[in-house]
Amino acid sequence: MKLIDFWREESVRFDAILFDIDGTLVYGPQPIPGAAEFLALLRRDGTPFFFLTNDGDHTRRQKSGFLNRAGIEAAESEVISCLSVLPELARRRGWDRGTLFQVGRVGDTGGLKLERDLAGLEQCCGVLMGEGNYDWRTSWEALTGFFRRHPDRPFIVPNPDTCWPNAVTGGIGIGAGGQARCIRLLLHEMGTDIEPIYLGKPCTAIYDFAAEQLGMAERSRILCIGDSLASDIRGANNSGMYSGLVLTGITSREQAEQARGEYRPRLVFESV
Ligand SMILES: [Mg+2]
Repeated sequence: MKLIDFWREESVRFDAILFDIDGTLVYGPQPIPGAAEFLALLRRDGTPFFFLTNDGDHTRRQKSGFLNRAGIEAAESEVISCLSVLPELARRRGWDRGTLFQVGRVGDTGGLKLERDLAGLEQCCGVLMGEGNYDWRTSWEALTGFFRRHPDRPFIVPNPDTCWPNAVTGGIGIGAGGQARCIRLLLHEMGTDIEPIYLGKPCTAIYDFAAEQLGMAERSRILCIGDSLASDIRGANNSGMYSGLVLTGITSREQAEQARGEYRPRLVFESV
C-alpha cells in the first residue's frame, strides 16, 4: 500500500507528519513518484509537517533548494536538520562561550563561533564534526592528539550515520558518525576513551525539537515516515512517535519483516 492511500482512510489518527528526505521523498536529484502529490494533499488539508534530515553539512536553505529542484515544494522553515538542536544545547552546556573546531563542512549553527584552521584547534572548547571533502588524515591526526590531551572536551557529531547512499556514484559515502567512531576507536586503542555527542536521528533530541516546533504534546499522533530502520524507525519508536517505513530507500521488505524491538516499523508502505 502507498502512504497516500493509507492517509486518505486513516489521517484522523494523526496530527502531523515528520518526513525523512533521502530515500523517502527523493533519491538524489530525482523525486520519488507520488511524493509531490502527497505533500500537496497535506498542504491543501492544512496538515502540519516537517522535513527531518540528518544532513548537517548543508544549510536548511540549501536543503529546501535541493528539494525544490527535485520538484518537491519545500520552504526553509519546513526543514529541521540535525544541527537545529545545537544552538540550544550549546547554550545549556556553555559551548557558546568558546569556539568550536569545525571539521569538514557544516550547515546552520545559529551563530556559534567556529574555527577551521588546525593552528587554532588547541584553544577550542570542543569539536564539531562535519562532512564533505577535507583532508581527513591531517585532521584525524590532529583530533586524535587533541582528545588525548583533552578527553573531557565535547566531540559533537550532528550526523550519527555510518554511511549514506551516494546517488551520484551509486556507492556509499562515509557519514560523520562513521568518521567519529573511527576516531573514537583510534583513541580507545591508544588508551583514551571519549564518547561522541550525537544530535540527529535516531537520537531523541531532534524529535523533541520537532515536537516542540509542532506544539504537540501527543507524540503518538505524530507519524514519522522514513526509509531507515536504524535511524528513522528506531528514532520515532524511541521518542514515542508513530513509525512508518517506506521501501523506496535502503530497506528491503525482508529486512522490514525481520526487524524487532525498537527497529520494528509500526506501518510499512511501498512508497509515499
Ligand atoms: Mg533516508
